[in-house]
Order: sequence, then C-alpha cells, then structure tokens
Amino acid sequence: MFACALVLASGACADRATTPPAADAPTTTMPSQPPARPSRSAAGYDVTPLPPTKVKELASKLDPEAYRVTQNAGTEPAFCGNLLDNKKQGTYVCVVCALPLFSSEHKFNSGTGWPSFHSPVDPAHVAEKSDASHGMVRTEINCARCGAHLGHVFDDGPRPTGLRYCLNSAALRFFDKGTLPPDALTKDPTGLARGEAAAASASGTPAAAAPASMQVAYFAGGCFWGIEHWFSLCPGVSAAESGYMGGRTKDPTYKQVCYDDTGHAEVVKVVFDPSKVTYRQLLEGFFMIHDPTQLNRQGPDVGDQYRSAIFCTSAEQATAARAFIDELSKAGSFGGKRIVTQVTEGGTFYAAEDYHQDYVSKTGRACHGTNPWPEVFGTAKGAAGAAGKH
Ligand SMILES: [Zn+2]
Repeated sequence: MFACALVLASGACADRATTPPAADAPTTTMPSQPPARPSRSAAGYDVTPLPPTKVKELASKLDPEAYRVTQNAGTEPAFCGNLLDNKKQGTYVCVVCALPLFSSEHKFNSGTGWPSFHSPVDPAHVAEKSDASHGMVRTEINCARCGAHLGHVFDDGPRPTGLRYCLNSAALRFFDKGTLPPDALTKDPTGLARGEAAAASASGTPAAAAPASMQVAYFAGGCFWGIEHWFSLCPGVSAAESGYMGGRTKDPTYKQVCYDDTGHAEVVKVVFDPSKVTYRQLLEGFFMIHDPTQLNRQGPDVGDQYRSAIFCTSAEQATAARAFIDELSKAGSFGGKRIVTQVTEGGTFYAAEDYHQDYVSKTGRACHGTNPWPEVFGTAKGAAGAAGKH
C-alpha cells in the first residue's frame, strides 16, 4: 500500500537502538524556526519556542524511552509502540510539553508499525527539518514548541493530504476526547485556546470564546444527541458539543436539567469556520433537523429543556436568526404553523457530562432525521464533507 515495505527494508523508520547513535547525532532541543514567527497557533496554543533550560526541566521528568526518542532522535521498534492500535477518539499531545499534535480524526492504519496520521491538528504545532542521517534524506518532524523529535513525514500518505506522519508512540501522550487538560504553557488558557479542554471543563465558558478565525454558535432543538451528531458532520464545523444553556442553575447536571426547574435547554455548541460554512447555512441545517413549531417539546421529549432556541454570540447572529425565521414564516414553511424558536443573545454554556458527547456515533442510536448538509451545500459538497469527517 504505502511505501512501508521500502521504508522497512531500508531501515528508514527502524530502531536506532540497533545502531548506536553516531557521536554527531544532533541532540534536538530547539525548533529551527526564527523566533519572529507568530507565537500563537490558529488552534489557540502558545507555540513560542521554549528556552533550552525549560526543555531540559520538562525532559528530566520523562521515562528513559521517551527521553531517548524525543531528546536524542530515537526510533522505537516497529509494532511495539503502545499507541499504534489505539482507535479511541481523542488527541495526541507532545509527551514533553503537552502541545496537542495529532487527532484520532486523522489517524490511519499505514501498515508500517508506527502510528500514522495524514495531518497534524495544526500545521503550526509540528516543525519539519531535513534529516540526512542513515544514508537517506528524510523529513524529520519535531514539536514546534519544545523541539521534541517525533518521527518523520513521508509523501506516500492517503487523502486528503497525501502525507504520512510516522510517529513514535513514546513521543506522544493520548487523551480521550473531552479529557484534554488546559495547556499549562499557554499564557491565556481561556475558551478554545484550551482546545478540547473547554469540553472537559466542569464550569461554564463565556459565550464567544474562540480563536479569532473561528466562531461559535449555539442551537437547541430537543435532545442534544442528534443535534450534536448532525452539526459534527457539517463541513466547516470543527467541534460540536452537547451542553446546557439558558437557565438559572450553575454547573447543572443532566439529572437536574431533567428533573429540577433549572430553566436550561439542551443545547449544542458549534465551533465553525465562517470561511467554510456561514451562519446562515448553519441556520438552514438547524431548521431541517428539528421541528421549530413544537413548544417546549420535540416529539416524545416533553419539557422546556427540549425547547427550540438559538443562543446568539453576536448582534449579527441575532439579526440573521430573526430574519431567517421571518423568511421561513413568510414562505409558509412547516405547514404555515407558527415558529416558536426563541432567539436570545449571550448566556453561559455548560458542557454536558462526557457520556452525552458523541452519543449517536458511540451508540449508533439516531434521532433528528437525516443529514441536512448535502441539501444545504448542494449535494456534492455537503456529502463530501460529511464523508470526510466520519
Ligand atoms: Zn513539545
């Protein structure tokens, strides 16, 4: 399939332990970029190169194998790394400085014996440099922040990038989806600057917290499992997360939302790239996957937690949402029945318990009809985006 046979035959990724490192083998402590590059990645992480003293301090806590791989450009034996067959959803971070590097979304089975990905979580998190050791010219990959040796990147990977990032398990630490801790080395670890940490946070996050290039929208349309599922398949949506919003109780539990009078609605937080999907398109999809004419219920689910609502993070969103509802009403959509969807500005989002996240993909249980995105985008684009994500 991939050039793994060649790679193995030539020892390209093979264990350097069998050939003791040459005296001139570079000890990797710093990435090669000039210090002038932007210090914050699009994903919101501080990627300023760490000073050698800090790297030394962090590396001193590593186990011997992780130290050998990351600090002395070592390679673990094929088929021996503990993350090769890991199929769980989540994030792979640098074992030294905890910068998120790769996601389960981009992992594939390369057959080479090393964990393989077709893309990094953010291109600014992985630095590349030419590596002429072992009689070959390869491209070494390093953590952009602490310089840790990670592995190599080859151009025989699958779509969409055609790249194969060949990793050492020992250079990575895996966090299940929703458990990524705040980034200790990011100076202002708020909102999405903490990546999925926002999902793990027990407390609420401010409504509009996201990197500058991304925007956040909140939709409530009955049981959040199905709403989250369809938004997670939308092209241009980087994250869809179930939670609670619009009520009075701080840090509510699911039980409280169901049985107490918290006033919260089951809501889905949608993080999207407005250059790929517009707020208007999100609205179109939202009104296709729920019935906005049912007051405080969706089908069998009855109660104000199932109300139809849009929590807007800006005045522009509120204007767009109201205008779209007007449009639907004037067009006589939904059999001319009154649309009862609430449009509210602001509010605090409380992430739901982990077991509610990705409920539909975890259980196969479906609700809220069919995939709206092929119709919203025009069949080909929506279908391609949906297929590419799951
Ligand atoms: Zn690192």
